[in-house]
Amino acid sequence: MRTLNIILLGAPGVGKGTYTEILSKKYKIPHISSGDLLREAIEKRTKIGKKAKKYVNEGELAPDEIVTQLIKERLEKEDCKRGFLLDGFPRTVVQAKTIEKLKKIDKVLNFVASEEVIMDRLSGRRICKECGAIFHVRNVPPKVEGICDKCGGELYQREDETPEVIRIRMQEYEKKTKPLVDYYRKKGLLANIDANPPIEEVEKVISQCNREISKIRKSEGKSFFTESCFKAWHPFSSE
Ligand code: AMP
Repeated sequence: MRTLNIILLGAPGVGKGTYTEILSKKYKIPHISSGDLLREAIEKRTKIGKKAKKYVNEGELAPDEIVTQLIKERLEKEDCKRGFLLDGFPRTVVQAKTIEKLKKIDKVLNFVASEEVIMDRLSGRRICKECGAIFHVRNVPPKVEGICDKCGGELYQREDETPEVIRIRMQEYEKKTKPLVDYYRKKGLLANIDANPPIEEVEKVISQCNREISKIRKSEGKSFFTESCFKAWHPFSSE
């Protein structure tokens, strides 16, 4: 069975979650966010959640074994058989080596934006407690302040989105995750995506992703392959 196994890289706040949601609907493969899995484990007070809480709240990376266990369990689920969009994992070279043993990775999309854009997106982000929809106080405000447009749930700001914790998350990214950009470039899997366009121009970002995803089949030697072929080929494509 053909699969579409994609990793999304990029600094915290670059917009990976928003873009991945759109790609997940288009290609009908699950959006798997290690941060969401950890927050859920923390909320449910599972063994992993208890171990991870301190790291997540303080903006440091959780230990590799904890996150890897969560991701392994998630990837074993039925909905991942035909592919997945992995957002926030791997974040270290150790994690990258683990995932390689589990799955063949088809492409790594590396979202890049200026520091100014990233800081603005992070500090204004609000998330729905019920459905996880993402808003922004200025760029994507809800119709009613503090309330989700989609489900009426309450919006909240993540605990790790205070200026101090954001600073630590950025340092962790620079030190531990950025080396993955080179790691995947050397493997020929990396595609840089310009994530600077504002949310109203989200299509500009998504079309770059679509172009890169369509190249996967070309690199498999199917030179006849086009975007429309891809849609026909990929049994989960919505269009
Ligand atoms: P995110 O929602 O991706 O920004 O992740 C929120 C927090 O969860 C991070 O700041 C880390 O503390 C933790 N986390 C998420 N993914 C990983 C990972 N792959 N490895 C280690 N820690 C992670």
